[in-house]
Amino acid sequence: MTSSDLKNQAEATMMNAYSPYSNFKVGAAIRTVAGNVYSGCNVENASYGLSICAERNAIMQAVATEGPGMKLAAVVVTNYNQKGESGACSPCGACRQFMIEFATPQTTVIYPGENGDIETNADKLLPDSFSF
Ligand SMILES: [Zn+2]
Repeated sequence: MTSSDLKNQAEATMMNAYSPYSNFKVGAAIRTVAGNVYSGCNVENASYGLSICAERNAIMQAVATEGPGMKLAAVVVTNYNQKGESGACSPCGACRQFMIEFATPQTTVIYPGENGDIETNADKLLPDSFSF
């Protein structure tokens, strides 16, 4: 599955977002090193702190299916605001740390930038990340 296919998957899953509080839908699709694809959307909660981002939703599904050895090959993130527009938005800090946990030096991360999609890697998104 190409990054374009992953983007299509992320956009499709984004439409299932539960975001009645922010009206900001986010979708993520990931490809694992094993070659499987998982996707997730943001799921908000009246108790805001319980809300979960699309990226972590997708990564948790991957771990639940492949087990603790799951490694990320690619992560693609999309969004859709209340105006019906996709806009520049990078993964939040919590998701960056979550990606690092399952990333390899080759893991690519693609998200919407001001002038089109930005492709980078997990290490560049969160330099000097926390680790034991
Ligand atoms: Zn996040």
